[in-house]
Parts: sequence; structure tokens; C-alpha cells
Amino acid sequence: MCYNAHMNEFLGEKSSDGIAIGVTYLLGLKTPADTGEAGVSVALTWEELKQVALEQLDALYEKTLQELGEEKADIIDVQRVMLGDPDLNASVASQLDIGADLGSAVEGAFEAVANTFELMQDEYFSARAADVRDLKGRLSGVLSGKVDDTSNLPENAIIIAEDITPSQTLSLDKSKIAGFVLTAGNQTSHTAILARSLGIPALIKVQLTQPVEAGVVAIIDTSEQRFTTEPGSAAIADAEAKLRAQHDAQSSLDSLRGAPSSTKGGKKVKLYANIGSLEDAQKAVAADAEGVGLFRTEFLYLGKSQAPSEDEQFTIYRDVAEEISRTRNAELVIRTCDIGADKKVDYLNLPDEENPALGYRATRFMLDREELFLTQLRAIYRAALAVKNASISIMFPMIASVWEVEKCRSLCTQAAEATGAPLDICPIGIMIETPAAAVIADELAKVSDFFSVGTNDLTQYTLAVDRQSAPELEKYSDPHHPALLRLLKGIAKAANEAGIWAGICGELGGDETLTQFFIEAGFAELSMSSNKILKIRKVVNELNI
Ligand code: PEP
Ligand code: MG
Repeated sequence: MCYNAHMNEFLGEKSSDGIAIGVTYLLGLKTPADTGEAGVSVALTWEELKQVALEQLDALYEKTLQELGEEKADIIDVQRVMLGDPDLNASVASQLDIGADLGSAVEGAFEAVANTFELMQDEYFSARAADVRDLKGRLSGVLSGKVDDTSNLPENAIIIAEDITPSQTLSLDKSKIAGFVLTAGNQTSHTAILARSLGIPALIKVQLTQPVEAGVVAIIDTSEQRFTTEPGSAAIADAEAKLRAQHDAQSSLDSLRGAPSSTKGGKKVKLYANIGSLEDAQKAVAADAEGVGLFRTEFLYLGKSQAPSEDEQFTIYRDVAEEISRTRNAELVIRTCDIGADKKVDYLNLPDEENPALGYRATRFMLDREELFLTQLRAIYRAALAVKNASISIMFPMIASVWEVEKCRSLCTQAAEATGAPLDICPIGIMIETPAAAVIADELAKVSDFFSVGTNDLTQYTLAVDRQSAPELEKYSDPHHPALLRLLKGIAKAANEAGIWAGICGELGGDETLTQFFIEAGFAELSMSSNKILKIRKVVNELNI
């Protein structure tokens, strides 16, 4: 290990916040001293190869299940299922039939599937290409006799790789990882998501303009989006000071666990979490969220060959509600399926549209698929009946008119009756995320028990800037635009005058520069990603209002 031989600095893109001081570990990248020696190739039949891979995946599944829970383990399960896929097997067999060796047959068949996934518009499906390639890499690794041995990971390892496959990420010993430096990668890759959920600093798209040695001291500083190898003593002292400040800031936030979320003048606001799964619900509890202001249920519909059944949904809503019953307000707002636009699934046969964001999505679509809608509503009422110590609310997305809410309410009545639940067991609210809904908030307040503002969509529709827009449009998508702030004030006013509560559940809920504005405007609840709860509580506690 050397300390100041020749310091090199590389720039990248921040993917998970923090400072790390550690030792470089090259994963799948050649070191300058690498001899390039390959393993010993192994002769196997396709069936034998699958069996070896399956045994490895079984072991990795068990490890992941123990360490990180079922949701992460499912990443591995997808690959086990893929190994048995009839189309993939037929494709490998037909390549073998025409005389290809097993390595080339696997390469050809898996690449073809990965390419098909990659071409799909939907981000979820295009990301599945990584799973196919991950599995292909495992099979090729077995054939070439190469073992991906990360058992010699040093303490405080800074993992440097082009990209890390889902199974590599899951098999690494997380307690030894100080940070990730990826030369490729993207913000939605499994590694990026995992790094964020574990609080491990990570940079992606790092341009390694010089070769990097293994086993040298290095620093990741995501505030500067910089990776430094072999830093001098001054750079190390600087990073250590930042690391101490980071720890101090975290412990001062930790002291706010259990503290009230109220201003110096005694104004209270509820700080809730946005979630999309049971695992997120656990994180919300761990982050001291006071409840859940948005459970995005459309994730239950993605990546499947058919819609989730009533029982399947009931189990998830019940388990999430049980988890949330541990928060101080034990409140869970379940948003009904917001499918469409950028979230498409084949089995629902959504039409192709020129302007999907202005199209057939969310409640507009669900109102036309009554049975699909009722299935979800029945599952929610059953969960509300089953979990006595949590309060479940139902929330409808993408509302523009009063008649839509009335129609939703009548379906709620049907679903409640079908399950034997009293209708008032679940308050019924709506998302305000279209300018139309914001403007007629006073009318909508008469048919709603609460409002929650989806500032992500409200921003795109108010400012006419697509959320998925090109970077050139970024300057037009100003979430602090006076038009938006005026709409927000009007929404809170209409809610308060009608005696219902209003909250925020878009990204702005966690924007500390707007916390004071929201409280003064009369919003009673701010819902945000779990990792922002304590930060925003600190801001609230320091407000002189
Ligand atoms: C929003 O639009 O602000 C919102 C919370 O919903 P989503 O981001 O899921 O569209
Ligand atoms: Mg929305």
C-alpha cells in the first residue's frame, strides 16, 4: 500500500452520497500488472452447465435471502427461472444443432434475448438485459473455469469495475465495502440502488484516464464527484475531516429520532415516507417516518405476465400495513395503480400513444377496467379489515374532474360491500397532479377526504415540460416556478377551508428550501423518500415560525 506515490484524480457522476477512504479492489478490470491468464476451460454438456449454474444461484439466493431479504433475493430467482425458459433453451439447442460449440451457443442465444430487452422503451424491461447478461457471464465463467473470487476482499474496499452485475453485487461482503467506482453504470442499475439503500458512496460513469492499481489507497468524494487514487497526506487529511463531519451530521440527525416535527413556534407537520414495496416500508420504519403518504402500487403490476391476484395484493398490503403500524401515526396511504405513460406492461394491452404522459394512464385506464380496479380495491379493504392497528387510506392518481372521483367512490362502495368492510374504514383521497385538479380544488374537496399533491406530474403539466425531457429543457422545468407555488397555495387553502388535510408526495416534499413555504401555506403532511425524513425534521425544528 502506498500513500503519495502519484496521485491521480478522476471525475464521474454521483450515484450514492458520501465520502470513502479505502483500498482499491479491481473487479473484472485488468490491473496494469495483469498477466491476462485465463482459467482452464471445462467440457460440459448444456444440461450439466445449467446444473452447475443452478447450484451457484441456489447458494447465492440463500445468502441474499439471509442478508438482504426476499426482494433482493428475487433478483437471483429471476435468473433461476430464466435458466428454464423454453425459448432460451430452444435457442441454445438450435445453435448446438448447427454445430456451434457450447460457449458460442450460450453467447448467441443470451445476447439475442438481452438485445431484445434492451430495445424495449420501458426502463424496467430494458434493465432486465443486465440480468440476462449476468446469467450469461456466469455460464461463460463456469465454461472457462474462471471463478469470480471476491473472498479476498480487503477491509474498506473501494470496488472498481466497469459495471457490476446484480449477482456480483449481492455476493460481495457488504461489511467490507467502503465505496463503488463504476466506469459505466446508470442511476437505476441494481448496484446504484443497492449502494443508496446501504448508504455506501458510489460514483458511476467515472472516466479512468490512467490505469488504476489494485491495493492502493483511494478516496471517493461524491460532493466533488471525484475519485482520487494514491492521494497525498493533505488530501487524506481533508477527506478524513469531511468523513468526521459526515459522521457528526449523521449522529446529530440520529438524535432527532422520536422527536416531534414541529417548528419553534409550535406548528406541526407530519413527515411521511414514499414507498413501493415491503422492503421500503421497513426502511421507512427504520428512518423514523411517521407514516406512509404514498405507496406506489404499480410496481406490483410490472415485470409479470399477468396482473397480481386479489390474494397476492391483499398479502402485500396487509404486510406493509403491519410494518407501518410501528410508525408513530400508523397511517398508510395506498395509491391505486398508476400504470401507463412510462410504466407499461404487455398483458394490459395499453395502446401506443404519441403523447403517453397526456394519455390513457392511471385512473383513466383503471376506470375502464372495472374488474382490475375492483380486484385492487377489494384487496385494500381486506387489508384494512385485517390490520386493526394501522389506518389505511385509498388515493386515486391523475384526477382532473369531479365525476372521476365520484366514479372511483362508487367502486369503493362496491368493493367495501363485497369484503364486508364498513365504507368509512378507509378515507378516500386524491392526488392533485393535474393543473385542472389544482384549479378546481375547492370542488374536489367536497368529494375527497384528503389531497396529496404529486408535484412531479403537476410540474410537468403546469410548465409543459415532459418529466422524461431532454437536458435542454431542464431550465424550463423549475419546480419553484411562481405558477406552481401559486397553485400549491390554492390547493392547501381549498383543503383547509373544506376541513380536509392536504399533503405533498412528489419529490418537492423532501426539498428543504420549500419546507417553510409548505407549512405556511397550510400543508399538514410532507411525504418523501425515507432517507430525507430526519434532515427535514431538523429543518422544521429550526424554523422560526
Ligand atoms: C408525482 O407525480 O409527484 C407523484 C408522486 O407520482 P409519480 O411520481 O409516481 O407519478
Ligand atoms: Mg404522478
